[in-house]
Amino acid sequence: MSIVDTPERRQLRELTRSFVTREVLPHLDDWERAGEVPRALHATAAKLGLLGIGFPESVGGSGGDLLDLITVTEEVIRSGGSSGLVAALFTHGIALPHMVAAAGARTGGSLGGRLGSTPSPGDDGLIDRYVRPTLAGTMIGALAITEPDGGSDVAGIRTTARRDGDHYVVNGSKTYITSGHRADFVTTAVCTGFSGSGELTLLVIDKGLPGFTVGRRLEKLGWHCSDTAELSFADVRVPVANRIGAENTGFLAIMQHFAAERLSLATQAYATAQRCVELAVRWCRDRETFGRPLASRQVVRHRLAEMHTRAEAARSYVHEVATRVAAGEPVVTEVAMAKNVAVAACDQVVDQALQLHGGFGYLRDAEVERHYRDARILGIGGGTTEIMNEIIAKGMGL
Ligand SMILES: Cc1cc2nc3c(=O)[nH]c(=O)nc-3n(C[C@H](O)[C@H](O)[C@H](O)COP(=O)(O)OP(=O)(O)OC[C@H]3O[C@@H](n4cnc5c(N)ncnc54)[C@H](O)[C@@H]3O)c2cc1C
Repeated sequence: MSIVDTPERRQLRELTRSFVTREVLPHLDDWERAGEVPRALHATAAKLGLLGIGFPESVGGSGGDLLDLITVTEEVIRSGGSSGLVAALFTHGIALPHMVAAAGARTGGSLGGRLGSTPSPGDDGLIDRYVRPTLAGTMIGALAITEPDGGSDVAGIRTTARRDGDHYVVNGSKTYITSGHRADFVTTAVCTGFSGSGELTLLVIDKGLPGFTVGRRLEKLGWHCSDTAELSFADVRVPVANRIGAENTGFLAIMQHFAAERLSLATQAYATAQRCVELAVRWCRDRETFGRPLASRQVVRHRLAEMHTRAEAARSYVHEVATRVAAGEPVVTEVAMAKNVAVAACDQVVDQALQLHGGFGYLRDAEVERHYRDARILGIGGGTTEIMNEIIAKGMGL
């Protein structure tokens, strides 16, 4: 039994599985072709309490912690969903936490905030205007950090915000933004010092403000049901009330919330691996070559055994690190290692699962084909494998 298995989490797993079976699986192929998931899906997931997992009830969430969130993420994929679906439906998991934490700082930390002692006067308002409606499934949010000039170097952000009375005037552009087409608002990292100075602030920018343009829908190798956008800002006037926390606390806020995002991506990686093991086992039992099922051949059984071992080892390690994060331990290095371990396991397992499916594995009709394409982003998003290695090397004192 896993360390995260409790009777409550088994119920959560059941709820997630029935949601995916009823509301997702009949439509997922259509959404992959359409390039996005419908808004109605957010409302349905919200009604079941799934969107609010990991957010306190005081801000409209369903309660629960990081391990509950991991349980939901894992089960979405193991029930036949995909990491692309997780990215599209749970984008709020990266768009909202900074707001919740900042409001917590204002109210004495009761919401888990640690963003400094001079929060923005707007922080409480952000909860009502953005957090509650998003967790209720009536708004969609996105997080915009990456810019055309680079994503790994967060401190090098060049989108600027110049204070002008009660507003900031924002200029610059962002790219590869998940749910950027559908989003009603974008939690945006801007530079409030001179461009590239690393003095970052987070602003919530409403879709539709003059000068805010959502560019073309980016076409991708995988994550087809998740819309990805370029955004540009030309003299966009954003009210100061839309600032999250104090000015120049953005870099710290982004780094603090990377742990949850990286563990989510690690979960998507090992869960994709687990799902692909299941698909491969089923296939190898049914498929006969030279008069015998594939699974009867020792070389195939050993390959499946190794795939299963990799997926389970990654799962155990991610759970261990997530448990330590949930307990408040500062385990930045371990989070980076967990992401890399899970992504490496996923890369190997999806490749071998597709190979075992033969020609069918290469067809759009095969679920394993989607996982193979979807998996490639997991070592890029939320900090690349190389950037994780940099963090690990620093943790080793190198
Ligand atoms: C489908 C998709 C969805 C995304 N969603 C979002 C989103 O919602 N919000 C958002 O803000 N961003 C998002 N991203 C962006 C993603 O986080 C970045 O692509 C990622 O952080 C890498 O940044 P980059 O693409 O600019 O690569 P670069 O930073 O230009 O890096 C290029 C290569 O160089 C390597 N590299 C960089 N620096 C070093 C170094 N010091 N040492 C060794 N190697 C190095 C990198 O590992 C990488 O292999 C998304 C990307 C994709 C593809």
